[in-house]
Amino acid sequence: MIHDEMSYSLPFMVACNCKDEVQLVIGTNSMGTCKNRIRSILRSGAHAVVISPTQESDVKQLVSTFGHYSRFRLVDRQWQLSDLTSLGRPIVAKVVDRVFVQLPLDECLMEKEIYEQCIKLRIPINVFQRPEWSTFHVGSTYVDPQSSGLQISVSTNGQGCILANRIKREIMASLPSNISQIVTNMGQLRDRIINEDQQKLIKDHYGSTKDLALAQNVWYGLNGEYESHNLNNLVKEFDMTERDQRLKRTRWLSQIIEYYPMSKLADVSLEDLGGPSEEQQEQKQQCGVEDKLNKSESTENDINGQESVVMGEKKSPPSCGKISLVGGGPGSVSMLTLGALQEIKTADIILADKLVPQSVLDLIPEGTETFIARKFPGNAERAQQELLEKGLHSLREGRKVVRLKQGDPYIFGRGGEEYVFFSERGYEPTVLPGLSSALASTVVARVPATQRDVADQILVCTGTGRKGALPQIPEYVTSRTTVFLMALHRADILVRELLAHSWDSEVPAAIVERASCDDQRITRTLLKYVPEVVEEIGSRPPGLLIVGHSVAALVQPPLRAFDDSNKYTIEEGFQGNDMGLAALLR
Ligand code: SAH
Repeated sequence: MIHDEMSYSLPFMVACNCKDEVQLVIGTNSMGTCKNRIRSILRSGAHAVVISPTQESDVKQLVSTFGHYSRFRLVDRQWQLSDLTSLGRPIVAKVVDRVFVQLPLDECLMEKEIYEQCIKLRIPINVFQRPEWSTFHVGSTYVDPQSSGLQISVSTNGQGCILANRIKREIMASLPSNISQIVTNMGQLRDRIINEDQQKLIKDHYGSTKDLALAQNVWYGLNGEYESHNLNNLVKEFDMTERDQRLKRTRWLSQIIEYYPMSKLADVSLEDLGGPSEEQQEQKQQCGVEDKLNKSESTENDINGQESVVMGEKKSPPSCGKISLVGGGPGSVSMLTLGALQEIKTADIILADKLVPQSVLDLIPEGTETFIARKFPGNAERAQQELLEKGLHSLREGRKVVRLKQGDPYIFGRGGEEYVFFSERGYEPTVLPGLSSALASTVVARVPATQRDVADQILVCTGTGRKGALPQIPEYVTSRTTVFLMALHRADILVRELLAHSWDSEVPAAIVERASCDDQRITRTLLKYVPEVVEEIGSRPPGLLIVGHSVAALVQPPLRAFDDSNKYTIEEGFQGNDMGLAALLR
């Protein structure tokens, strides 16, 4: 569905810092809601002042529930307008900071009066079941009872709180059961990294870290590292600046949060953000694979060129371990081949790419050892080496190793190199093709990669060449659909180069992210706007760029004319039934 988010008015969802504020609750009608309001106020660190209890029995109830909180106060008398300007904090001339009105239904004249006064005084007000007299409303909110800090609030913009409640419940049900630990663990890791690495960096820049709050402010302003379009910035593994070194763990953590299966985030530790663990070092020695990587600037050739390593194994592998390189498709379980499924179900150990999505990982039988590649910025070569060594080690133990790769193993998946690596050591892999994201993305984006009179050829290429250099820029062919993988993090450079090589700046382009996953996003625009659009919408990796007239061939209503004031459209979501399918396959 194409939508223009500017064409209607939506409440601005914010999370307010209300610490020490005074929030006034006028009336105690509808006791359940009233108590919830007070609870929320107290939880936010504000003072709750309740005035004009509706019934005498309410006083007792409220005192017995909240009486022991020092920030709770009950004023047992009729409210008056002057309360708005006399019960607040001295620092804001005693004007209260927020008002909730819970008066009985027949007091609507008074409600209107309070509302008008609040508008004059610019006090945010919510009148129970009176959206017309409310400047804010309270969404249906889930608060993590385990105090991780997680809150989920749902608003339907006044289209029914029962529905909002239901939606909230559905969201909660879809979260992993260890969501509290996930939030807590990620928060703690982030804090530790900020304290340890980033303080050092700030100290280098500013000479002191005395004022942590200031240091952190400076930090966030300084690097924009948490902005999603920067997540995948290119980091040169063997040519890192000192700043890159220091930022490494921050980047890794961002990537882990972005790519790892949610439920695993609860167990990520600081060690995972460092180099290979001791256990892996040990394995490395057992495998006898020389770690050239630390010694010299490695290239992909180093892996291919290791004939000298572990001589003689080619003829007589020490055991009968088996390995397969398996394409796992772009994301949706519906796009996994039956062959891949069989491999997943029969593996002893699965070595998965970072990009292999949760829905596919969920098919791995419980108890099958699974290792996910730690291919984070600045660590691609080492992570690849780590994976190969793990595979070799398991093969030597006679195990069945499944190297599960995103999309197709031979399309920018280093499948060829891995094939050579294992073959040379006497373990020739079975290779199973997968549906490449390059060809699935066009389909899910309603782009007929070839179409008579529109496109008669397809080119799949990369936006990132060896060691981060730009690849050779292909020539522009009007009747071609070009798919650029690994291109979005450097869309500005790529597009600049394309235009410099006579590409048509007005040719339609589609940014397809997380193709075939539930959170798939398709953004349509023109080639010339791609860099700006990427910057504006942020990134949702993995994603790719499709360029060509085929992008506009099927879209109904026809792709409207983009111009400077109307640069792109977004379509969210993938219509699949992975849950149902996964249940069938488990
Ligand atoms: N072997 C994979 C490609 C690996 S290279 C394949 O055949 O699909 C990694 C790049 O693939 C990412 O940077 C991104 O450009 C693309 N990619 C992988 N999965 C994707 C997906 N679900 N949606 C969009 N792009 C994807």
